[in-house]
Amino acid sequence: MQMKRTALSLVMIALAFTASTCTTERPADEVVIGLNPSERSENVQKNADVLARLISERSGLKVKIFVAQDYSGLVEALRGQTIDFAFFAPVSYVFAERIAGARVLLKAERKGKPYYYGCIVVNADSSYRTLADLKGRNIAWVDPTSASGHIFPKAALVEAGIDPEKFFAKQTFAGGHDAVLLSVINGTISAGATYANDTAGEDGSWTQLGKGAFKGRIRPIFYSPPIPGDNLATTQHLIDTRPEIVRKIRDAVAGLTDNPAGKQLMQQMYHVDAMIPAASADYDPVRRAADLLKLDITGKIGGSGGAAVPAAGPTSGTAQESGQEPGEARNELISTVAFIAFAILGAAFLVFQTIRERRTRGPHGTAAPFNGIAAPSAGVAAPSAGQAAAHAMAGMQNVTVREPVPPPAGNVQFSVRNLSVLYPDKEGRSVRALTDVDLEIAAGEFVAVIGLSGAGKSTLLRCLNRMNQPAAGAIFFEGREITYAQGSELAAIRRRIGFVFQQFNLVKNVSVMKNVLGGRLAHISWLDSMLGRFPKKDRDIALRYIREVGLAEKAQSRAANLSGGQQQRVAIARALAQQPSVILADEPMASLDPKLAEIVLGMLRRFNREEGITVIVNLHVLELARNYADRIIALRAGEVVFDGPPAELSEEAVERIYHTDAEELRAG
Ligand code: ADP
Ligand code: MG
Repeated sequence: MQMKRTALSLVMIALAFTASTCTTERPADEVVIGLNPSERSENVQKNADVLARLISERSGLKVKIFVAQDYSGLVEALRGQTIDFAFFAPVSYVFAERIAGARVLLKAERKGKPYYYGCIVVNADSSYRTLADLKGRNIAWVDPTSASGHIFPKAALVEAGIDPEKFFAKQTFAGGHDAVLLSVINGTISAGATYANDTAGEDGSWTQLGKGAFKGRIRPIFYSPPIPGDNLATTQHLIDTRPEIVRKIRDAVAGLTDNPAGKQLMQQMYHVDAMIPAASADYDPVRRAADLLKLDITGKIGGSGGAAVPAAGPTSGTAQESGQEPGEARNELISTVAFIAFAILGAAFLVFQTIRERRTRGPHGTAAPFNGIAAPSAGVAAPSAGQAAAHAMAGMQNVTVREPVPPPAGNVQFSVRNLSVLYPDKEGRSVRALTDVDLEIAAGEFVAVIGLSGAGKSTLLRCLNRMNQPAAGAIFFEGREITYAQGSELAAIRRRIGFVFQQFNLVKNVSVMKNVLGGRLAHISWLDSMLGRFPKKDRDIALRYIREVGLAEKAQSRAANLSGGQQQRVAIARALAQQPSVILADEPMASLDPKLAEIVLGMLRRFNREEGITVIVNLHVLELARNYADRIIALRAGEVVFDGPPAELSEEAVERIYHTDAEELRAG
């Protein structure tokens, strides 16, 4: 029996493996969106048809809807590329991210909030008022993977020092929110866990489900911390291979609630008011809660019983007794082993693919070891802690409802359309760093970006080489959309964009020459970069730029022994050695005294004039911008407030850009 099961598992692994490595051939304009009915309902298919039609109308794509049996089915479908997008609940999204390379695009907003709560409810007629009253009683959870109906309230109990295993006499899984409510109302169980939309007891599953039958009969007595909402996700694969499709579907879904039919549908299906931008980091609280409970979430996915709803399942309608089917534990073990085997096979395959890709295409400037020192990758100097934080945010994705944008024409180098960037604040709410920025920058321009500290200058610059991921809008570089560029495509773009940082970001304990050679890394073979070996041609190029910035005698000196001004010149030489078409410089002279600042800017202007390199430089000193730039773009609180030649920058405009009054300072 055991043997048979194992053999079967192996066949399944092989099949799953084949399925996941072959791309499902589908017409280029057709997408499949997966969903899971949030409650049992005859209307699912009817709703699905309407959803497909609405998304199709807005996106101009053929849209099919796949209704999965449960969330594990949804994750599997995404992994096997049977579906391209999926509506996930928060916990299943976290699974899907780990297992299927899912990437969140939009999250649900209800009553103006992008989160909801888990809560513990009792019968309104009961005498239970506080958690303590529930000691020694029975509780029904929704199912093991339910964020609000299990994981969050349970984790909150654990954090409050309560061990649910000892505290409750018995724990059951009821299978659904409605089933939990029914059990509590029928009195077959003392308490249950479910979702709430506020912490005032006014709005939750009991007001939204059961056509009003639960209203007034339920009393919440305990709330979990906020839970990030359900979401729309796609896969990294699709983002890499069909970014325009991702953008169309994202925009279509974000725009669904703009019209009455869509609004009604989203209410009916998910009780959602709007779908708004989301980042992977928004789901950190879910990961934390899962960790706190030591939840083996991946094991559940491979499980034989779908989303692992044991005991009183949905068919019973209410929660009563709990108990594991004999053999269930063993099934789970086999599935876990199968899953691990699958993961190992998958990893081996990925390694094989990567090696093959490298062999055929060579490296594209991914950070490679450089004489044992982590060297800067193409166009980007070694990341600082701040940048690492920004990288962690790179999962942040977009929403806007807009017609597809045609690529710019002529000698436009950068085109930025309706660009918005969001950062999460400490509470996980999104704050805007840039709002609807529209810009076109022509090849060969020398542009200064000015504005107060915090205006969004760095954010804008970092979007241009995609160190920051925009939340909305589109970025074009040399006629190609790069909003979603990833992997080798992104590396190829960065090879053409030099970046100069305020803090130079040099490798301090190696020579000037080696630092500048860092700019050639993306141009040499993978093997050479591994061995830290640079062909003569590349060494000549590096030396040429070291001379150009006036540091010929310092070529063999350690970077650390140079003055600040000299270090910034090394950083410029490194950017130039990339032979980029653009140099982006983020306040390159902020750490230098005024005279050195002029030298650095003069140097950038020379390369702009002589080599036709486009220069975009962030400056906070207005005078420098006036003296060196052909064009000034001013930002204030994330919006463009001036764009024109220095001569047109009136006193009034300057006031608009820099004025702060006491009121504002206090608020900010
Ligand atoms: P500037 O370069 O003009 O000083 P930035 O682009 O650095 O402005 O910042 C714009 C806004 O975004 C500021 O309010 C800043 O606090 C915020 N911000 C920048 N980076 C982050 C980040 N990694 N996390 C959260 N907020 C950020
Ligand atoms: Mg800055």
